[in-house]
Amino acid sequence: MVNILIFGPPGSGKGTQSVRLAEKFNLLHLSTGDMLRAEIAAGTELGKKMSAIMSKGELVPDEVVIEMIAAKIDGVKDKSGFLFDGFPRTVAQTVALEKMLNDRNMKINSMLTLDVDHDELVKRLIARAELSGRPDDKDPAVIENRIDVYREKTEPIIDFCRQKGLYQPVNGVGSIDDIFDRLSALVSELV
Ligand code: ADP
Repeated sequence: MVNILIFGPPGSGKGTQSVRLAEKFNLLHLSTGDMLRAEIAAGTELGKKMSAIMSKGELVPDEVVIEMIAAKIDGVKDKSGFLFDGFPRTVAQTVALEKMLNDRNMKINSMLTLDVDHDELVKRLIARAELSGRPDDKDPAVIENRIDVYREKTEPIIDFCRQKGLYQPVNGVGSIDDIFDRLSALVSELV
């Protein structure tokens, strides 16, 4: 099983590209953002609590997403690996993921990082608000906060992974197809 992180700031295209990569390479796509939104849609107690945090653009507690991921990775058959999208988002989550994988004789194989500049991110998220209906895409102040939280809490994972030789930057600007080709070229060397 190959374990790939798709990494990058909010609006960098992780979700869009993950769906395509998962299909092409037979990977299980695990998006903590999607899992959290499913909790909210189902009206669970957890969903209600997390919704308030997410609508401000803050991160939900590490334990919540770590448990969600742990619940998904056992008993998976017929897949070539996992594609982690929007997780890990803190160094603590990264350490927890490494441990989870190590305990199962696996490891993180690569961190594919989509590089997109700030103005392009804001432009994309505002455009996405129309389609996604996501409250965290609607408010420019929340968008800026999500990007700040990314820089402060999530970006340090890059150094952590770079030291382990896992960091693979990818130009995230261009057409969806072009970016998909760039990512596919790297994934095809891993699976
Ligand atoms: P985006 O890629 O646009 O940032 P996501 O769907 O990945 O969107 O995440 C939406 C929100 O869900 C985040 O802003 C955060 O509040 C919460 N979230 C998702 N994944 C995590 C995570 N791994 N750790 C903490 N919070 C998370």
